[in-house]
Amino acid sequence: MIVGVLKEIKTEENRVAMTPAGVEVMRQNGHTVLVETQAGVGSGFPDEAYRAAGAEIVATPKEIYDRADMVMHVKEPLPPEYDLIREGQIVFTYLHLAADEELTKALIRRRSVNIAYETIQKADGSLPLLTPMSEVAGRMAIQEAAKYLEMPQGGQGILLAGVPGVEPATVVVIGGGVVGTNAAKMACGLGAKVYLLDMNLQRLRYLSDVMPANCFLLMSSPATIRELVKKADVVIGAVLIPGAKAPKLITRDMLPTMKKGAVIVDVAIDQGGCFETSKPTTHKDPIYVVDGVIHYCVANMPGAVAKTSTLALTNATLPYAVEIANKGWKRAMQENQEIKLGANVVDGKVTYKGVADAFGLEY
Ligand code: NAD
Repeated sequence: MIVGVLKEIKTEENRVAMTPAGVEVMRQNGHTVLVETQAGVGSGFPDEAYRAAGAEIVATPKEIYDRADMVMHVKEPLPPEYDLIREGQIVFTYLHLAADEELTKALIRRRSVNIAYETIQKADGSLPLLTPMSEVAGRMAIQEAAKYLEMPQGGQGILLAGVPGVEPATVVVIGGGVVGTNAAKMACGLGAKVYLLDMNLQRLRYLSDVMPANCFLLMSSPATIRELVKKADVVIGAVLIPGAKAPKLITRDMLPTMKKGAVIVDVAIDQGGCFETSKPTTHKDPIYVVDGVIHYCVANMPGAVAKTSTLALTNATLPYAVEIANKGWKRAMQENQEIKLGANVVDGKVTYKGVADAFGLEY
């Protein structure tokens, strides 16, 4: 198969869909890999590294769309690309179609085979191509919070860790899934006093076995949240209710009860956010202040650490990409239910219920 790796064109997106190490594996499996020039520079991979791994560097996205059997992106194709997509071509990337009617209709029109990273699903319900980005965002949330607690950034002037003789910061993490657990681990490692909340008792039991002693596991409830935010220096929003908007767990009227200069990082902002006062921000202008509380609500946090994110993402995507390339999409979907669940629009038909439901389309 000819596999094409496109350069990302979305603003502030520096990740790339395949590393030179991935190209080498594809080559070992007998495939040809085309890489758009400069596709890897944002992640620290120059064209020469791809060439050395056996890729052919091509000048334009059009050449990739014209020649490749499977094209790989990180983010969804954008309008200038729609008409380049060919009938029967495999498009393997994050698609998030339920939020994008224009793209869904374009993919139906182009009759391509569109496999979304985000709906590939394991038998236990986990989403293996979303997990690495949640790991990155969770860990990064604490790094960002620590930064905005510093006075030059408008914070209270508090060191997360404290020092001998001085209390550490109090960090409240709401949601004990992938994001929340990674955030709590980082905060605990730095020596903060950490409260980690979830609604799922089984999950709390598991976390109480694996988290360190400075992590206090609590059942999430409006009353607990209301009390904890009063003493929090940092609050991390990390809840997810699959297929739904994030619940507003911290309401506007709780903000005046919080410390001035406290930092909230609403990682769940991509699902609408779990703070009533959250609105999406960007890496260029990541924070704003409401009632003295610093809000960090960047919707694509992993983009700021593109090197780590690219490696984390491609570690997870490559085995699927190789399987699709080796078997072709039909056999790959027949033999691997996880890949089948990734199919969103195939040959002009919507094949994922959530997408069909979002736009009242036939499924
Ligand atoms: P997850 O499914 O692993 O975890 C979510 C957890 O929230 C679950 O354990 C669930 O029990 C818990 N939960 C649900 N309702 C709750 C409540 N009322 N109180 C406390 N806990 C509650 O999901 P995840 O991978 O950790 O992702 C969390 C959020 O972060 C998602 O919205 C995801 O899209 C988002 N995310 C954002 C970025 C970004 O760049 N901003 C990056 C990655 C993930």
